[in-house]
This record gives sequence, structure tokens and C-alpha cells, in this order.
Amino acid sequence: MVELKYPIQRRKSRVIKIGKVLIGGGFPIAIQSMTTADTRDVEATVKQINQLYDAGCDIVRISVLNHDAGDKLKEIRQRVDADRPLVADIHFQYKLALEAIEAGFTKIRINPGNIGAEWKVREVTKAAMERYIPIRIGVNSGSLPKDLLEKYGHDDPRAFAESAMREVRILEDMDFQNIVISVKSTNTQTAFWSYQMIAQMCDYPLHVGITEAGTLDTGSIKSSVGIGAILMTGIGDTIRVSLAADPIHEVKVAKQILTSCALRQDGIEVIACPTCGRCQIDMIPLAEAIEKKTRNIKSSLKVAVMGCAVNGPGEAAAADVGIAGGDGQALLIKKGKIVKRFDESMLETALLDEIEAMTGEKVER
Ligand code: SF4
Repeated sequence: MVELKYPIQRRKSRVIKIGKVLIGGGFPIAIQSMTTADTRDVEATVKQINQLYDAGCDIVRISVLNHDAGDKLKEIRQRVDADRPLVADIHFQYKLALEAIEAGFTKIRINPGNIGAEWKVREVTKAAMERYIPIRIGVNSGSLPKDLLEKYGHDDPRAFAESAMREVRILEDMDFQNIVISVKSTNTQTAFWSYQMIAQMCDYPLHVGITEAGTLDTGSIKSSVGIGAILMTGIGDTIRVSLAADPIHEVKVAKQILTSCALRQDGIEVIACPTCGRCQIDMIPLAEAIEKKTRNIKSSLKVAVMGCAVNGPGEAAAADVGIAGGDGQALLIKKGKIVKRFDESMLETALLDEIEAMTGEKVER
């Protein structure tokens, strides 16, 4: 990863352990997603969990709708590698939370204010404490309590922050501090200020997202703007992109957000020029091919694909390696310096060879 002279100063949050994944305290920002399969269908749920982890997800959450789903938790946990954290998303029913903890789930998402009687909350926190399982308090637009809506009206960041802190205090009063918080609005500005406020009120790690962001295209843009803006203020320990699409896309977009914010880089980041009248090669398919054929590479590397030799070397200076094409000849560039010239027909092969040499990993040919 290219070293930044003025990196974002991340908020100092306390470290929380979610199975083998550590969040907060400056640990890498973790990517979360959620299964969409019916949790009662163990086969489909396990398959989707593994697909999400294989795509680069760090923490997978599954929703536990009712006791039929609760009955399947143990089997799901047993069939997924123990190194892969599993989070149970539960509303209202404290027994389901106990079942998830008993089944070996690594974290639960539940709002204590929704559970009911104090003794029920106590049972859940006691079980979570015994197994060192964190609880995420998740406030979103649809879960704001009536009195706060009356006090502040809809879409007011103060209501989000106050609601979250109210839930936090219930747990803290029971000596429970293994907490993660989210305050997700579907409005990017409300979410932005809600996270700024809650970040000032406590040091618990924050899970950042824009809820109900939308479909693949529009939701990806909205999430990138909303989550990106919050991350750029140094806030955020885990993120989730919420899309009305296959959750694999959530992981891909989340990775891209973190890479675009220069906060984390897993694998190859392709920088491509937009092309212009100086471009004399078929650059766009080339950039797409490089991106596709290097998607399995785990090492972090910035790769530039530039359309011409006029501005290409200069514009590729921020990349570890790159090529610039044009007029029969192509250039191989490293950190902005031309290191090799070769025939233009060899563009793709030369760049892929160089990526393999630099990473020690095989690309997809
Ligand atoms: Fe145009 Fe060359 Fe810049 Fe690409 S690198 S945008 S082709 S000037």
C-alpha cells in the first residue's frame, strides 16, 4: 500500500473481539454482510455464509426470525468453520438470543430495550458475559422509540444517538461493556451526524452503514457516499453495505469503499485513465481484463492502466506498477518510471507477468 503523508486519524475506540476478528483500537475496518437465505434452510444458509467469507467478508450475520430458525442455529454453527464468526440478529425474543449464545454464535445483535422485562435482559447479558460474546446495539430509522420521535421529529440525529445511548446504559447498568453500536439512517446526512454524535458520547466501536440503501447501482453509490463520508472523519470499525441484491455484491462494494478511502487494501486496485483523444489502444477492455484476471490475488498492489505515453507515466506515478500504450509501442512503468518497452501486442501479458512476479501469486489466465 502506498504510504500516505496525511493519513486519516481514526477514532480511538475500545477493542472488541468477535471470535477471531478484532475490531476497534485501530484494527483494520472489518466488512460485514448478512445472509438472505431462509435460516430454517440450513443447507442454503451455510452455503451462503461460506460464499460471503470466500468473497472477503470478515463477519457474517444471519437473522433469526422465530423458534423454527432458532432450532437450526446449532447445526449452522457446527457446519461453518469455527474461525468464521457468526452473528445472530434477533428482535424482541430473549430466548432466541440465549439459544444463539448456547449454539456458539460469536456475537448477537439485539436491542435490550426491545426485550421486555429487566430479568430477561439480565439473562441475556449474563449468558453473553459468560462466553465473552459482544452485543451490538443497532438503532435505525425504523426502531426509534416514540418519545424520541415526539421530542425530535423524524430523521433527527439526536434521536439516533440518544436512543443508542439509552440502550447502552441498560447494558452498562448490568456491568456489560462488550458493546458495538450502529446508528443507521437511510438518509446519508442524518447517518453522518448520528455517527459524529455517538462517536463523542462513548468509546465503543461503531458499525457503520446506510440502511435500506437501495438496489445494486443506486444503493452502491448511496452507501459509498454515506459510509465513505463517515469513514473519512475517522469513524468506523466495521461496515456493511445494505443492498437489495445478492449479498456478495455487498462485500464487493464494501471492499471497494475501503480501498477508495485508502483505509484498507486487499488485493489488486486497478487505476485506469478515462481515455481521451490521445489514446490509441483499446484501453477499456484491457483495464477490465486486468481487473478480472487479478481478482484472486491476495497481495496488495496498485496497478495502473494508462492509454498513452504522453501523460500515462506521470498519471501512473501513484501506482506500484502500470502500463501505458500507444503508437505500436507500450511502456512498463514502476512508481512513475519507465522500466521496459515492448510491442503493444504484449500489453496484457507483460502486465500480468509483472503482477505475478511482484506478488508471487498466479493470476487467472
Ligand atoms: Fe488521455 Fe493519455 Fe491521460 Fe489516458 S493517460 S486520459 S489517454 S492523456
